[in-house]
Amino acid sequence: MEMRYHSTRGNDVQVLSKEAILTGIAPDGGLFVSDQIGHTTLDLATVCANDYHANARLVLGTLLPDYTSEEITTCVDGAYGSQWDTQAITPTTKLGDDWLLELYHGPTCAFKDVALQMLPRLMSVARKTAGSGRNVMILTATSGDTGKAALDGFANVEGTGVTVFYPHGKVSDVQRLQMVTQQGNNVAVCGIRGNFDDAQTQVKHIFADEDLRARLLDANTVLSSANSINVGRLVPQVTYYFDAYAQLVRAGAIGAGDSVDFCVPTGNFGDVLAGYYAKRLGLPVGKLIVASNANNVLTDFIATGTYDRRRPFHKTISPSMDILVSSNLERLLYYLSDGDCELVASYMADLANQGSYTISNTMLERLNATFACGFADDDATRATIASTWDGLGVLIDTHTAVAKAVLDDRASEGRQRICLSTASPYKFSADVLGALGADVTGLDGFACMDELERRTGTAAPTPLGALRSAKELHPNVCDRDQMTAFVEDACARIFA
Ligand SMILES: *Cc1c(COP(=O)(O)O)cnc(C)c1O
Repeated sequence: MEMRYHSTRGNDVQVLSKEAILTGIAPDGGLFVSDQIGHTTLDLATVCANDYHANARLVLGTLLPDYTSEEITTCVDGAYGSQWDTQAITPTTKLGDDWLLELYHGPTCAFKDVALQMLPRLMSVARKTAGSGRNVMILTATSGDTGKAALDGFANVEGTGVTVFYPHGKVSDVQRLQMVTQQGNNVAVCGIRGNFDDAQTQVKHIFADEDLRARLLDANTVLSSANSINVGRLVPQVTYYFDAYAQLVRAGAIGAGDSVDFCVPTGNFGDVLAGYYAKRLGLPVGKLIVASNANNVLTDFIATGTYDRRRPFHKTISPSMDILVSSNLERLLYYLSDGDCELVASYMADLANQGSYTISNTMLERLNATFACGFADDDATRATIASTWDGLGVLIDTHTAVAKAVLDDRASEGRQRICLSTASPYKFSADVLGALGADVTGLDGFACMDELERRTGTAAPTPLGALRSAKELHPNVCDRDQMTAFVEDACARIFA
């Protein structure tokens, strides 16, 4: 059967996955979803016998069936090649009584590489086989990690450009350096005076700007997104849920068919939503535990059914989770409402207009059947980094520590639990080192990296060390209302 995608806010327009990937966000502002997800489930025995590449081919082939199997194979081989520092791609290791799913072995040392090494390849194939040969400008707001991962994934990919906006002063030293040192003839990077939500909101406005679209189209250019709202980012993330399960079966920790829980450090809800897709595709999932930092809007939502973004924004030591509007939640609402586009659209209108919405009791019951929640503030996060290192000998980053803290607070429900580890601790060396009790005053990002290596006897990933000698190429900082002009300039320069 042909698989079609349509907007969460209306199902009149149905497109194949290639078009959904090229477009990014649906024209009405909704997110692309498919009603067929879960009609086919994956065979667990096959999954458990597969290596990562075979599982990626299986998941992508199922969710993006308009790609040929040759196209999928080429994309998988390219995305998960020698730029990863382990052939397992996402190894699952012991974490006390639980498991750590290490998602940070890619070129930018954060889990976003899993998807962003893949998305440019999916887009490039779609552009050649289903697009109209137009140039694609990728437009992305980042809370820190997406930006670099998108820049690395798209740099020098023919027919594409990438523009990244990050909140100036609200990302770590290393995160900033990773972005502003990016090489490539098709990249643009700019800091925004404001926070991530400001940047993301403005990017959404840019996507909705009809005049801009028309002007760019005259120049043979379309805008698309590399944020986790793009189907091509979500789908590759489904793979590691299956693959982690397969690793546990092979390690003898579970039998095929046993349910496991996943605890996910959450920001924009993309990662944990991929876990929900895995469940719909037949993976035996007990609970998906949504872990938040002090920006705990999702904790409240899952506990009460009311999503209320009208609250103070906290800058935390897990900045990639400093988010008050979790975009991908809209997709979950669609599934929880049994595909009621009108209802989803009304919730999103309420969120935009009054800052909150409340889901129906039926939807809340369904939500709580699969999702649990918890949060950890910075102090709890630091304490967890220390206790995980001292007690278990495992060094984790600030985001992973939020999830570990939430797991530590919960009684196990008798299932094996997998904690998703979303970044290398060396990406956040200063905060990790501080959490271990060191005095970091006056130390820059690299001095912290050195000291963290010395103290723990672990090694910083090679790509982060290389930043020391890299040249800063992108000094731009602008206000929100200058972002549109920045995008137009970037298009003109890159696609000249
Ligand atoms: C992006 C990110 C997250 C949050 O993932 P979402 O898909 O946005 O929920 C968590 N940790 C790290 C290190 C990240 O980069």
